[in-house]
Amino acid sequence: MSLRSNWKPAISIAALVLAAACSGPERDQPQTFPADTGPAGPVSGLDYHSYANTDDYRTTHIDLDFTVDFDRKVLVGEARLQLDRLNETNTPLVLDTRGLTIESVRAGHGARFADAAFSIGESSDDLGAPLTIEMPAYATTVIIRYETSPDALALQWLEPEQTAGKRHPFLYTQAQSIHARSFIPLQDTPGVRVTYEATVRTPPELRAVMSADNDPEAEPGGEFTFHMPQPIPPYLIALAVGDVEFKAMGERTGVYAEKEILEAAAAEFADTEAMLETTEETFGPYRWDRYDLLILPPAFPIGGMEHPRLSFITPTVIAGDKSLVALIAHELAHSWSGNLVTNASWRDLWLNEGFTTYLTNRIMQAVFGDERYYMEMALGYAELQDALPDLEDHDEALAVDLRGRDPDDVFTSIAYEKGSLFLYELELAVGREAFDRFLVSYFNEHAFQSISTEAFLDYVERTLVADHPESVSMERVQQWVFEPGIPEGAPVPHSAAFADIEPVRQAWLAGRIAAEDIDTGEWTYHHWKRFLDGMPQQLAREKLDDLDLAFDLTAAPNNEIAFSWLRIAIRNGYEPAFGRLEDFLMSIGRTKFIGVLYEDMMDAGMDEMALTVFEEAKPAYHPLAAKEIEGSLLAAD
Ligand SMILES: [Zn+2]
Repeated sequence: MSLRSNWKPAISIAALVLAAACSGPERDQPQTFPADTGPAGPVSGLDYHSYANTDDYRTTHIDLDFTVDFDRKVLVGEARLQLDRLNETNTPLVLDTRGLTIESVRAGHGARFADAAFSIGESSDDLGAPLTIEMPAYATTVIIRYETSPDALALQWLEPEQTAGKRHPFLYTQAQSIHARSFIPLQDTPGVRVTYEATVRTPPELRAVMSADNDPEAEPGGEFTFHMPQPIPPYLIALAVGDVEFKAMGERTGVYAEKEILEAAAAEFADTEAMLETTEETFGPYRWDRYDLLILPPAFPIGGMEHPRLSFITPTVIAGDKSLVALIAHELAHSWSGNLVTNASWRDLWLNEGFTTYLTNRIMQAVFGDERYYMEMALGYAELQDALPDLEDHDEALAVDLRGRDPDDVFTSIAYEKGSLFLYELELAVGREAFDRFLVSYFNEHAFQSISTEAFLDYVERTLVADHPESVSMERVQQWVFEPGIPEGAPVPHSAAFADIEPVRQAWLAGRIAAEDIDTGEWTYHHWKRFLDGMPQQLAREKLDDLDLAFDLTAAPNNEIAFSWLRIAIRNGYEPAFGRLEDFLMSIGRTKFIGVLYEDMMDAGMDEMALTVFEEAKPAYHPLAAKEIEGSLLAAD
């Protein structure tokens, strides 16, 4: 996922209370928070966010059948799970669910199936509810007929007005971290990998696409079939249904989008094929056949989601100048780090996101050159610096103790930017050539596996540290992984292209030059972000007028530039920008932007406007985004 945001919701009291209430089969000891006050740290590789008894059963394949009911906003589903039995005992099978109405469960093998007794346990806010199924001794398959809830957390049902075409509704899923269980009863843990097949029944004029072998030639007609031959963790199972069309960008790459934005998207992301080729050259083969993009409506709550074969992408990065395409590089890089080699539990997320952020920078360098590479790295570093003051020490370690917490708490700049900086230090220590060899063998040796932080440490010790004892030590590696903050002596990414920004800003602040005299002709989004984000907290009204008049920032078409400007406007009470602020919050659902803006508004005493706009905009936000923002608005209230 490309959250790349230092915004995270305040941890709710409910989440803390839950810490003592988790009672899944793997959590027989109530956990307290913070963990370092407890008797022992988390068990390596153990998933504290799933009820599934994966020591007894492992799902290997899932057959899905969905009927998409836009009127009732539900999926009517059947899931057929094929299981490996891992021991002789005939314990019941426990699956994860959330808000599912279970109609029937059958268990069996081959042609021999019988109704199976089942029960749904008590539901928890964070984890949903366990579904326990009595298993006949011969059973290796369960067939569950069910229906999702209209407010399922993984599903967003968009009204026609929320799409570009405004004629048809749109549905998409977002299962990371633990929301697959809200539309499929399964072992919802990244430690399990499954292949899947699916039949999806849709209104006849719409197209369904999945994280599977999409056929661009398939004509809409009410039924689509899919096959995903590579085993993936459940959080990567994804479905979208809407009035989308396809345009090829290269031999293995293409884009699905509503036709109103199809051409713009294909032009913006035209370098995707080059990104794919360069990543393969450096980091080993692409193992997922095709790489396509699906452009979502603006309500999509995140930047992008790396569903294998079909990344889901926010339209807010279509800037017209390719300035925000690092997002595509990021989602593509997940085809190696995350989708191929996967975090075993959410504590290990940095193995997904830190590696991916590092790879993103490398892809940007290969496709767009050194200047862009250093600018992207410097901005990432600034983001990390910015995030640190708001984080508790125990959340600044790469491996974060998430026991008794919402796993989405781990999506901070630590996993992304600190993880990437750690790998950058390793690259500098052993040299790029040796480090790339290490990465290629890391991906090859762990391909299609889910691994823990400790498995990574073990691998580093046997490879990088053993081969380069003079330049890498396990003490240093452990410091990065388990200790808070940025270790002393870490590299500081620096961009020569930003050298002029600070002096220019100072000259303008001191009144030595007017805004219109600043030469911004060659500036990209990167320069603007550096320039605006470095502004002092308080700016006088005439300074704000000067900037806005010279550069029309209130009307900035680039969403990242608009976002940086709106933050300045909020904290200085700059009313001329409030109309745009409201439009922005009403039309965009990406939490990286709106979560921060709402929080800024609360901090600036704009509670009334924040709550009013939120109430109006809320139906258009993804249920997860709405829930998180509501939590932080209420916490601040
Ligand atoms: Zn990501």
